Amino acid sequence: MSDASSQTGPSAATDPAREVLGRSVTTLPGVGDRRAEALGRLGIRRIADLLVHVPFRYERHRDAETIEAAARLAAAGSGREQVSVVGEVAALRHAPGRRPRVEATLEDETGRLSLSWFNAAWIARQLHPGARIRCVGRLEPVPGGIRMTNPRWERLREEEDRPLTPPPDAGGAAGDGGSLIDTDGAELVPVYPATDGLPSRAIAGLVRAALAVAGDVLQDHLPEAYRRERDLPDLAEALRFVHAPADEAEAAAGRRRLAFDELLLLQLAVAMKRARRTREDRAPAMPRTEAIAARIEARLPFAYTPDQRAAVEEIGRDLGRELAMNRLLQGDVGAGKTVVALDAMLVAVAHGRQGAMVAPTELLAEQHHASMARLLEDSDVRLGLLTGSIGAAARRERLAAMAAGELDLLVGTHALLTDHARFHRLGVAVIDEQHRFGVEQRAALRACSGDGLNPHVLVMTATPIPRTLALTVYGDLDISTIRGLPPGRLPVATRVMPRSRAGEVWAHLADRVRRGEQGFVVVPAIDPSPDLPDVDGCRAQLAAGPLAGTRIDIVHGRMSAAERDEVMQRFRRGESDVLVATTVIEVGVDVPNATMIVIEHADRYGLAQLHQLRGRVGRGEKPGLCVLLGDPTTDEGIRRLEAIRGTTDGFEVAEADLAIRGPGEVFGTRQSGIAPFRVADLARDAALLRTARRDAFAWIDRSPELRSPEESLLRRRVLKRHGAAFGLGDVG
Ligand code: ADP
Ligand code: MG
Repeated sequence: MSDASSQTGPSAATDPAREVLGRSVTTLPGVGDRRAEALGRLGIRRIADLLVHVPFRYERHRDAETIEAAARLAAAGSGREQVSVVGEVAALRHAPGRRPRVEATLEDETGRLSLSWFNAAWIARQLHPGARIRCVGRLEPVPGGIRMTNPRWERLREEEDRPLTPPPDAGGAAGDGGSLIDTDGAELVPVYPATDGLPSRAIAGLVRAALAVAGDVLQDHLPEAYRRERDLPDLAEALRFVHAPADEAEAAAGRRRLAFDELLLLQLAVAMKRARRTREDRAPAMPRTEAIAARIEARLPFAYTPDQRAAVEEIGRDLGRELAMNRLLQGDVGAGKTVVALDAMLVAVAHGRQGAMVAPTELLAEQHHASMARLLEDSDVRLGLLTGSIGAAARRERLAAMAAGELDLLVGTHALLTDHARFHRLGVAVIDEQHRFGVEQRAALRACSGDGLNPHVLVMTATPIPRTLALTVYGDLDISTIRGLPPGRLPVATRVMPRSRAGEVWAHLADRVRRGEQGFVVVPAIDPSPDLPDVDGCRAQLAAGPLAGTRIDIVHGRMSAAERDEVMQRFRRGESDVLVATTVIEVGVDVPNATMIVIEHADRYGLAQLHQLRGRVGRGEKPGLCVLLGDPTTDEGIRRLEAIRGTTDGFEVAEADLAIRGPGEVFGTRQSGIAPFRVADLARDAALLRTARRDAFAWIDRSPELRSPEESLLRRRVLKRHGAAFGLGDVG
């Protein structure tokens, strides 16, 4: 495999770069407390972090020798390229307002240039009249002069300043009178993500210093043969390419290697985890035979949709194996996941085993229990509910029944099931809402399965995950997906309205109430405040005017579970018409007669949350309506409302969320404990991810624990980075 020129890697457990990479950035010259703190804000603490702090773009720019020359450039319409200008700050002021900005005037002997920065008050603290700075940005002609908006800039020390008299004609800029030096073809200047007090330029210097320290000792963890096969530069080279590229092609090749590397290390961890599970996670084999399937399906008042059928069959295949199922079932609210989960649990019951379903809230547990009880009416299946509010005696009794094997199915809340339950022979555990359920809790469920075998685990989530993210965050789970809604369900219509038109919205809600329908009003605050509607205030205001005469209830997170439940039950029974609520109604409420939801200050909520809230209506026969009231002031707010209005498909919402917020912020990523990517970008690197996944799985297939000498560094880096999140303790 490896060819003659390949260097022999570190023979065993030595990684000379390890110490250097782990050094604090404060070991670099010029990094004191203040800089270390600024670097910390960028997530940079060690030398290694600095090396992978990659530029987000590169630029070439022209140097304008004087402001007059810059003005000529602007007048000549070269406004599209970046220009660098040096001068002295002559005036500086804050301009407050809806888009606060800092304005400055830059001067030299030949003219003046206006500068403005939006949302960057810190700049005013760092600049002062008399300071000499270099600005780089695009020039635009404005009445009476020229301007740069949001230029990048640096302070100049005297000795760095360039002379103000033009140098001898540089030759390349004929026609410009020699006053401009054309730097096209000069080195690419990296532009780094920067922060208050630490501009890109300073970061570039630190990166150079880090490369100087680490560059020579850095060892590549990827074997040479593999790098060749995938056409990847080696690690040290890739870093140089990224931070000091000769041209765009080098920059791209360097970035590709680093991004691929991150994806590959993660997928190797995923593959390793799976391989270990395959060897270790023994579970009872419970095939979903045709007879069992027929018996289960005969009990349902409807036929499975094609997606449900596919999911049921995938799950059935998993259950038939001795390897514990580890599967994610995703689909929008109301897509029909619960019945699929019930199917899996009934397969266990058919095999003389038990099923458990864990829900994040009491209300949800009750709802699951109620809908399962309906479907199981007059069957022999013994079903129990375990929540905090059933009382201590009932709880004890049910736990005892479960442990004795006198119950077949138990539905409960996370805490109760994982802390107290002992099963007789647990075959299937269903976990609703992955994000509130950690790795340890899953392990706890395993530990209490009763007979030493692992239960098959099915995780349900109503927050669909974009595929790329699913392959990373939930990389070690198999995935079944239910798209769309069951037949007969109408998508909810969505309108965005400015708050100034709230009156029309209330009038429409009143109309619906007169027709016997119900509605939700979601407000952002529990307590009164000057600028946000609160629960009580909103109810009072609606009752006094637009909704006078309707029965309005409130529900919020500070009420006890029992109080909340009572309000919800009243609403469900139709004893109230309108429910003014905080986002506690996000999960769990299923009221088919509720047809309209109004969300106040909708731009304050995340996309996933808005989508969940919208899913509270349209659960019956009548068409649902979701009105988003809001006057978004940020770009992101506007894009969110556009996105939610544009689609009712949870998967599209999730993709939009990923595009707007980036994977780091999207639901589930943070909680997953998986180290965030520094270079890879899931939206952009989907193809790299696929290759990395394929390669990693093939690799682990050949070498399950990465034990060959040339893999020792790779193994260590995989475990160091991802071992904890995936529970891959180093098994010696
Ligand atoms: P989810 O758990 O995904 O939120 P549910 O399983 O609660 O969705 O299903 C929502 C509603 O749709 C329930 O009333 C359920 O009985 C009904 N349902 C599920 N599957 C089908 C189907 N194939 N055809 C008709 N109705 C269905
Ligand atoms: Mg549900």
